[in-house]
Amino acid sequence: MDTLPFIDLKSQREAIREDLEPRLKKVLGSAAFIQGPEVRELEEELARFVGVSECVSCANGTDALVLPLMAWGVGPGDAVFVPAFTFIATAEVASLRGASPVFVDVDPATFNIDAADLDRKIAAVEAGGKLKPRLAVTVDLFGLPADYPAVKAVCDRRGMAVLEDAAQGFGGSRDGARAGNFGLAAATSFFPAKPLGCYGDGGAVFTSDAELAAVLRSLRGHGAGADRYEHVRIGVNSRLDTLQAAVLLSKLKAFPGELAARDRAASRYSELIGDLCETPKVPLGCLSSWAQYVVKLPAGADRDAVIARMRDKGVPTMVYYPRPLHLQPAYLPLGGRAGDCPVSERLCGEVLALPMHPYLDEATQERVVRTLRESLA
Ligand SMILES: *Cc1c(COP(=O)(O)O)cnc(C)c1O
Repeated sequence: MDTLPFIDLKSQREAIREDLEPRLKKVLGSAAFIQGPEVRELEEELARFVGVSECVSCANGTDALVLPLMAWGVGPGDAVFVPAFTFIATAEVASLRGASPVFVDVDPATFNIDAADLDRKIAAVEAGGKLKPRLAVTVDLFGLPADYPAVKAVCDRRGMAVLEDAAQGFGGSRDGARAGNFGLAAATSFFPAKPLGCYGDGGAVFTSDAELAAVLRSLRGHGAGADRYEHVRIGVNSRLDTLQAAVLLSKLKAFPGELAARDRAASRYSELIGDLCETPKVPLGCLSSWAQYVVKLPAGADRDAVIARMRDKGVPTMVYYPRPLHLQPAYLPLGGRAGDCPVSERLCGEVLALPMHPYLDEATQERVVRTLRESLA
């Protein structure tokens, strides 16, 4: 039996081909491969799409998280609060700056950072007296914006800033505001598998703080000052290349339609699967960009066996994420233990991501669900 794609980038390429190919040819013809006009054009369109004044593109989503930390001088002695249930990059960037990640549990229904546990973990760091609570990095996991009203209430009370990790949430919204709006700055990734992906690596930072944006632009270009060979701070090399910007301009045109298609596909899955396992919840006022469609298998299900049976029938699945960050080997030296973030630990054993992309048709979804049903039996 043929194997389904987990994310169907080939169908997408066919859908955008007519718009994409002339753009790529133009870049090839101009030979302006670095900082060509498409990069600035894309930054303007992305800022407009998100509803902020500034977009600073960069080389990948991890850099998009590091650059604001550099701009704010986050470093040794600072505690950076991150969810335990996310991709490693969310925490890694704090460690890269010499700051200390502090892992916070997540909400079992939304998979996003639990504001009550955030409050407890901040209090514990304050009581410890060794680290200064500095920043919370919130993740819009699987496409759903975090609970910003609750997170901001905690952070405002404690005098802490929020950095939004919208690598997965780009395109989602909460109370009418799009992901990318919710922190002092927000980072996204254009890795091919993200909701808005390019054909390689790429990322961007969003903010409505023009001064911060100017510092970010300097930092991404070796700390450039008035001209390219004046360096006023220590920066990095983190550029989005022109070809990737051209790809993203093309994909951004198709993106609103794709988001609607993802939402329809998610609703269809939830109707078909509701009786089988716990389907993802979208709180009132929220739209998910459905970076992933993740179910929780029923208690007692043998997930490895389900995955193997589905794979044998040509249906790929993924486990996001099999290990919470506080129990990752790289972070064990910080002293994390089983029980520190019990919800995250439990979710890691229950979650299963099904094929999700804007080009899923009903028949394919029915096949996925039929296969899941047979594999759970
Ligand atoms: C993908 C991802 C990143 C990192 O993005 P890259 O472009 O791969 O560097 C950061 N945070 C989260 C939550 C992600 O899913």
